[in-house]
Amino acid sequence: MSRQQTSSQDPIRCIFDRLFKRFGPQHWWPGQTRFEVMVGAILTQNTNWANVEKAINNLKAHGLLEPRALYKLDKDRLAMLIRPAGYYNIKAGRLRALLEWLFTRYKGDLDALANVPTESLRQQLLSISGIGPETADSILLYALDRPKFVVDAYTARIMARHGLIEPPFDYDQLQDLFHRHLPADLGLYNEYHALLVRLGKQYCRPSPRCQGCPLEDIPHVIEPQGSVDQ
Ligand code: SF4
Repeated sequence: MSRQQTSSQDPIRCIFDRLFKRFGPQHWWPGQTRFEVMVGAILTQNTNWANVEKAINNLKAHGLLEPRALYKLDKDRLAMLIRPAGYYNIKAGRLRALLEWLFTRYKGDLDALANVPTESLRQQLLSISGIGPETADSILLYALDRPKFVVDAYTARIMARHGLIEPPFDYDQLQDLFHRHLPADLGLYNEYHALLVRLGKQYCRPSPRCQGCPLEDIPHVIEPQGSVDQ
């Protein structure tokens, strides 16, 4: 399948069209700045967005949602402020590691990332402790406008149930499915991932609610799925 093929006959594109028609735009990512999106990508690991928002609001209320201010902050105090997001000591360590990378390599200047090729940037992010492919690609796509499709457990479940990928598979194989079937379009990648999360939460749950689902009439099987790591 050509990378440029976007016909509605293409199953990956067809799923997008149906989801967008049903759910409409999801308005992701709910962050006001690139840095806020990067911080949110770490805070959202293993928790829901409502908890992340509380942690983000704490940082905002203290004027800390800015690279240099957060870099100067003591790790224990950071952990206390992001406590609502859960795993706060671990996440404080991960945020510190992200900031250490940003300041050591780029003097804390997000604009300096603009000239770094996407794959190099991805490898650098993946080398930071606690940043796996889902978090790295969320940062690349939603904070840095790089066309990397973000996949997650919802994506894995939906694609496997519709026979579009054969278990066992890993993160890269699942991501490659989207990269092969879709043009490298930031807006499309942004919206599609958000729509799959919506579908996974509302219908394609561990016990699927196929009745009324926008993909109900697309052949599917409820079988064991592959999994992907954050
Ligand atoms: S709920 Fe059923 S129809 Fe909907 S995506 Fe999941 S398996 Fe497909």
